[in-house]
Amino acid sequence: FARQANGECTIAGVSVRELAAEFGTPLYVIDEDDFRQRAIAVKNALEGAAKSIGTSAKVYYASKAFMSVEIAAWIKELELNIDVSSGGELAAALASGISADRIGLHGNNKSTREIARAISAGVGAIVIDSEIEIERVAAAAAAQDKIQNVRLRVNTGVHANTHDFLATAREDQKFGISIADAPDMVAKIRSHRHLNFLGLHSHIGSQIHSREGFVEAVRRLVKLHADLSVNSEVPELNLGGGFGINYKPADEALSIHEFAEALAAAVKVECERNSIAVPKLAFEPGRYIAGNPGVTLYTVG
Ligand SMILES: *Cc1c(COP(=O)(O)O)cnc(C)c1O
Repeated sequence: FARQANGECTIAGVSVRELAAEFGTPLYVIDEDDFRQRAIAVKNALEGAAKSIGTSAKVYYASKAFMSVEIAAWIKELELNIDVSSGGELAAALASGISADRIGLHGNNKSTREIARAISAGVGAIVIDSEIEIERVAAAAAAQDKIQNVRLRVNTGVHANTHDFLATAREDQKFGISIADAPDMVAKIRSHRHLNFLGLHSHIGSQIHSREGFVEAVRRLVKLHADLSVNSEVPELNLGGGFGINYKPADEALSIHEFAEALAAAVKVECERNSIAVPKLAFEPGRYIAGNPGVTLYTVG
């Protein structure tokens, strides 16, 4: 997005006036080159940081940042994975031709139809958000005679926003299971032969500009991950998204490299402290990929 010397605003060199005249408003405009470059940069940074601590990373584009069939097709082509959180987003992802095992299904109020559809499509992971969902996903998988990979969303008590973070001992939000309750929930998941437990998931907030909240969440999560690993392997750890971006010239967001290095360093230290091998990692950046390349045009009335 740029303002030219004559005052004209352009996106990827195209005048917003022309776009509005051709397509009408409101209009979502995405700079495709910029989107693709950011997606690749994020993937490389997170995979590279994981590699530096002896593991690998799956990078999911969190599609609530912006979703369409075309966007999902870019994600497919760039070999990222994709997170969806409704039947509509799942349909859009599938319509792009991305392989279903690259799709993660989120949501704290998934309908039984959405769950059944995700399982029949063969999604790579369903992120279980509550106790009741364990039974729902298990029942749907059993009805289709499938074994479904699942993660358990954990509320670490760490909530981060732009400039700071809050770390509480108790959960106080509508997503996920508290750390105290997680071992029982994982035992339940493991008791179902139609569920395969991939690991824990945590997402601590959005538009985050500092590392500290992530580091504290990693400290709490890796401890839990280690406790759950005593009798049975836990292969993956999903650390979510939330990496902040610049909106105004004065903003000074961290680069994805800085986030990736801080997260990898924290994972390494905490795994050593808890005497466990470093698990495979997963991340879910959304805004960092779609935020800057995306603009909504309105006509002032
Ligand atoms: C919103 C969300 C993300 C992505 O957050 P960004 O701030 O866009 O990076 C990742 N995971 C979950 C579960 C989310 O709800």
